[in-house]
Amino acid sequence: MSDLNKLTIAEARDALRKGETTSVALTEACLAAIDGADALGAFVHKTPDLALERARAADARIAAGDAPDMCGIPVGIKDLFCTEGVASQAASRILEGFKPEYESTVSGKLKDAGAVMLGKLNMDEFAMGSSNETSVYGNAVNPWKSGNGEDPLTPGGSSGGSAAAVAADLCLAATGTDTGGSIRQPAAFTGTVGLKPTYGRCSRWGIVAFASSLDQAGPMTKTVRDAAIMGRAMMGHDPKDSTSADLAVPDFEAMLTGDIRGKVIGIPKEYRMDGMPEEIETLWSQGAEMLRDAGAEIRDISLPHTKYALPAYYVIAPAEASSNLARYDGVRFGHRAKLAQGDGITEMYEKTRAEGFGAEVKRRVMIGTYVLSAGFYDAYYNRARKVRALIKKDFDDVFAEGVDSILTPATPSAAFELGKEVSDPVEMYLNDVFTVTVNLAGLPGVAVPTGLDQQGLPLGLQLIGRPWEEGDLLNTAYALENAAGFVAKPANWW
Ligand code: GLN
Repeated sequence: MSDLNKLTIAEARDALRKGETTSVALTEACLAAIDGADALGAFVHKTPDLALERARAADARIAAGDAPDMCGIPVGIKDLFCTEGVASQAASRILEGFKPEYESTVSGKLKDAGAVMLGKLNMDEFAMGSSNETSVYGNAVNPWKSGNGEDPLTPGGSSGGSAAAVAADLCLAATGTDTGGSIRQPAAFTGTVGLKPTYGRCSRWGIVAFASSLDQAGPMTKTVRDAAIMGRAMMGHDPKDSTSADLAVPDFEAMLTGDIRGKVIGIPKEYRMDGMPEEIETLWSQGAEMLRDAGAEIRDISLPHTKYALPAYYVIAPAEASSNLARYDGVRFGHRAKLAQGDGITEMYEKTRAEGFGAEVKRRVMIGTYVLSAGFYDAYYNRARKVRALIKKDFDDVFAEGVDSILTPATPSAAFELGKEVSDPVEMYLNDVFTVTVNLAGLPGVAVPTGLDQQGLPLGLQLIGRPWEEGDLLNTAYALENAAGFVAKPANWW
């Protein structure tokens, strides 16, 4: 078999089981692709020796007939996941040199299932961003280029390295995390599939915390089938995370029938934004048509509090971040500033945090500290929490009226040029307009590549599902994927 790095998880799994290839061969193909793709800035810590060791162990397991679906599959892991003995920096200077002594539950589940970690993937610092431009490692670059543009494009963020790596076939799949859209937006920008599970499906244990009430890990893959396979392997109850749900995880792949006859798909009118490119409007209507043709009922719905979602998110997420990031003080993890004669513990904290955190992280810590401060707590944080409850209720109401899933655009634009939005934080925050509601309400959401814009760049649609019904959601995504028939790949320039 050739081009082994281009396989999907399902194809590789089937080939492994039939003895048509080996995990070592798959891993070597990916390692070669990674070495040829430094221009993409996707892999920031490479672990080739570890990968080959795990690949050999996976081959032995497959030969012994004990092969879970992910056994022998080479994957990339976002730098936000703690991986035992392997640098885990959350793309921040403050975690320079940090090598965890433990493995996050999610990466540990993949490892136990026999998946082969190729290395750690670039991201925005502490997962704060929508373009991968806040990373201490430098930008990740989108493998896609626009028709006439020479300028490099963002792969999106914060899971930009994961999206670039999957789109460029450097790995078969990758892990991502999503606090306000960081799996779905990069997936949409790179023509890949990104699933954010229901809050509580994947354990947060061992994942560097950004905003604990919003953070969720999920798979970033080439196809919906792969999201079903890898998602299942990542999910499950974990007593080490008190918000992890004690619910069985179904066989999502077995639920991919593509039959969505009778399903009700809601089209929320509040997601029709002023200034949204016409191509995205058109794609959205085409997506609805595709689902209708597949036998679903398309219903106009209203989610009236949508317009308050971004402001509420940008109060709640920084509030939680300011508290979560208090632990980086130069004592326990990673980087410590050089101190001058006479400096005490306060100077150590201040200097370490001043030089360890980048500008966006500092902005969030300052906003978060402000909205939680005694005089402003009610005006900002408590009000945002109330708005959050109303946003959740909007979704509860439409689900109670029989809506099975909701179709929206995934992003308000295609991938933009690196450097274009980074100077204007508010402009950058607008990227999350279609995705943050889902995190605020704790729901599952998936981005599916559905078309190309006039520049030849991928565009995605988002499907939002009922809580815990990832299987049903993925089946609808599968029907959309089949109907859209998105097969384009970026030309290899890197
Ligand atoms: N872009 C959003 C933010 O900057 C979401 C990030 C994420 O989902 N991790 O907060």
